[in-house]
Amino acid sequence: MTQKRDYYEVLSVDRDADEDEIKKAYRKLAIQFHPDKNPDNKEAEDKFKEATEAYEVLRDPEKRQTYDRFGHAGLEGMTTDFGGFGVNLDDIFGDVFGDLLGGFSGRQRTTKRGRSLQYNLEVTLEDIIHGKQFTIQVPRVETCSTCNGSGARTGTEVVTCPQCHGRGQISQSHGFFTMARTCPRCQGEGEIIQDPCPSCKGRGLVRNTREIKLHVDKGVDSGFKYKLTGEGEAGVNGAPPGDLFVVINVAPHERFQRDQNDLITSAKISFAQAALGGKISVQGIDGRDELRIPPGTQYGAQLRVPNKGVPIYKRSYSGDLIVEIEIETPRNLSGEQRKKLEEFAKLRGESDQHEQEGFWEKLLGRHEEDSE
Ligand SMILES: [Zn+2]
Ligand SMILES: [Zn+2]
Repeated sequence: MTQKRDYYEVLSVDRDADEDEIKKAYRKLAIQFHPDKNPDNKEAEDKFKEATEAYEVLRDPEKRQTYDRFGHAGLEGMTTDFGGFGVNLDDIFGDVFGDLLGGFSGRQRTTKRGRSLQYNLEVTLEDIIHGKQFTIQVPRVETCSTCNGSGARTGTEVVTCPQCHGRGQISQSHGFFTMARTCPRCQGEGEIIQDPCPSCKGRGLVRNTREIKLHVDKGVDSGFKYKLTGEGEAGVNGAPPGDLFVVINVAPHERFQRDQNDLITSAKISFAQAALGGKISVQGIDGRDELRIPPGTQYGAQLRVPNKGVPIYKRSYSGDLIVEIEIETPRNLSGEQRKKLEEFAKLRGESDQHEQEGFWEKLLGRHEEDSE
C-alpha cells in the first residue's frame, strides 16, 4: 500500500480550517477531478477518491478529532467496518453537489444503501459486572417523516420532467453531430418535484438525533463491538439503511485493574496476620469478600477470592478477585511491644546486635527486591 497523504495536505487547507473552508476546498477538487469530467483518467479518479476520503473525515467533527489525535491509524477501524469509503460517496455528493446546484435540484431516484455508523460508548467496570441498559443519542440521516421520503410537499406529486419529458436525457447539437447528455433539470431521473417538502427541502432525508437502547452484556471488554442492524443512516429512495456499530470502551477503575476476567486489587495486613494467618475482609467490586490469609504469607503474595472477578461473557461464572498482599510494618512501638519483639527475635536466633534491616526483612519475609 502506498503511503497515505495527510488529509489537510490533500485538501490544501490549514489544520484549523473551518467547515466552510474544507467544503470549498473539496468542492474545487471534486469539480476538477470528477470522473464524469475525466473519463478513463485513472490519475484523476485517484485524486478524486483521495479528496473525497479527506473530506469525508475532516467534515465530521468526531472523525476529524480522531484523525488530529491519531492520524490515519486512528481511523483504520472505521474504514474497515464500512468497507472503505465507496459506500459514503453518494452522501457526500448529496451534500456538496446539492449545494452546488443551488439546493434542491431534482429527485434522486437512484437507490443507495444508507451509511453505517460507529458510536463509541464508554462504560464503567461496574456496568459490565452487572450488565446495563443504555440509551444512546445517535445523530443520523433518516427518512423524512413528513413526505415519507418522496421529497414532495404533502398533497403534491412528483411530476414528469418538462425539460426531457421523462427521458432523463436531452440532445444537444454540436455542429453537425448531436450528443445526448444527462438532463440538468432532473439529473437524469426523468421526474422532478415541483413543490419540495419543506421539512427535507426535497431530499427525502433529514438529519435527526435518535435515541437507541442497547443492553451492554456482562463481561464484555474494551473493543467489543455491537452491531445494530439497520440502525445506521437511512437509504436513499427506499434502499435499506446502514448498520450501527457500538464499540465498547471500559473506563479504568481507581481501585481495580482488569486482567482478562480477573480483577486485581491490594490489601494491607499486619505482620502478625502475615505470620500467623487468619481471615480478613477485602473490598470487592460488588461488596466485601472474605479472604483467608495462610500462615507465613509473604509480602507481594497474590491471594485469590474465586468467582469474584469479571463475569465471563455469556457464561454463568466469573474470573477471580486477586488480592496483592502488602504487609504493614508497625511504627511507634510501646515499651512492652518492643520487648516482646526482641524476645521473639531472640527465639528466632536473631541477636539484636544484627543490623536492623536484616531483622525486619527476616521477620516479614521480604524478598531482596522489596526492601531498599
Ligand atoms: Zn420531506
Ligand atoms: Zn429531465
